[in-house]
Amino acid sequence: MLEVKNVTKYYGKFKAVDNLSFEVKPGEIFGLLGVNGAGKTTTFRMIMGLLDITKGEITLDGKPIDYSVTDKIGFLTEERSLLTKMTVKEQCIFYGRLKGMDENTIIKRMRSYLKKFNVSEYEDKKIKELSKGNQQKIQFITAIINEPKLLILDEPFSGLDPFNVEMFKNEIIELSKKGSIIIFSSHRMEHVELFCKKLVIILKGKTVLNGYLKDIKEEYKKKDIFIKGDVTKDELMSVKGVVDVIERADELEVIIESNDNVKDVFDVIKKKKNITKFEVQEPSLNEIFVTKVGEEFDK
Ligand code: ATP
Repeated sequence: MLEVKNVTKYYGKFKAVDNLSFEVKPGEIFGLLGVNGAGKTTTFRMIMGLLDITKGEITLDGKPIDYSVTDKIGFLTEERSLLTKMTVKEQCIFYGRLKGMDENTIIKRMRSYLKKFNVSEYEDKKIKELSKGNQQKIQFITAIINEPKLLILDEPFSGLDPFNVEMFKNEIIELSKKGSIIIFSSHRMEHVELFCKKLVIILKGKTVLNGYLKDIKEEYKKKDIFIKGDVTKDELMSVKGVVDVIERADELEVIIESNDNVKDVFDVIKKKKNITKFEVQEPSLNEIFVTKVGEEFDK
């Protein structure tokens, strides 16, 4: 289990991370989220043992993370960190060796992943000759080549088309099923919702939300109603409990205070003709993120 306990990080006098705590068990995919400059990279670097912690403690299976465990960690950084003049094979061998693997195992795993990601023909091509999305695949392969016990994924889907996002997503789920501890970070909340059951949202180093997505959604209370048909934004805005109405491409998204207000909106809609959709949904993580971060900025 990964445990981050009351961790604070100062850069000089500047507090970049403020008393952050969370834990991730094997098989769990945890979301570490925040706006730009929130302290995510700083936290990753502390987990990896690349930065000193000012206060608090980070442990993997009860022990501090040092060079004795780095072989068991995989890190996919947001920035590309490939050596572009190397071939794909040389790159994989280079990273695999850094993780203490023997060459035969590296090549075997590399070939199986290249096949899985439909890029076998690039094995002897230089990284710089690959497209952005294919470079991302190689970066992902180098991060998981050691079958890491702890895997940190920072914007893993950057530059990928929806088909490849799906493929990566399946592989990440596969790794978690095999027992990896996975920390996932992305600004794309719909990606986070795909597989993070537990998450923390930080802002200027401080924790804004922390816990299970299910509980966070329940606590948030607001619901969204999607309506298609002959009703206007103004009509809906005047209904009790309606907080906002967002005009989407071919429907209206109505945000209400709480579940109790579904009836108030429905009472207006049932008098209308030509309503083809009335659907109540949980708030999206995106909506919760924007609201919570907005509230913090307003403080
Ligand atoms: P982004 O989403 O933009 O990548 P982030 O959440 O990863 O942001 P960090 O890179 O961890 O944010 O930075 C957190 C804060 O610490 C920022 O205000 C940043 O300017 C500051 N910071 C980061 N590295 C240093 C450093 N080496 N020295 C001083 N301040 C730093």
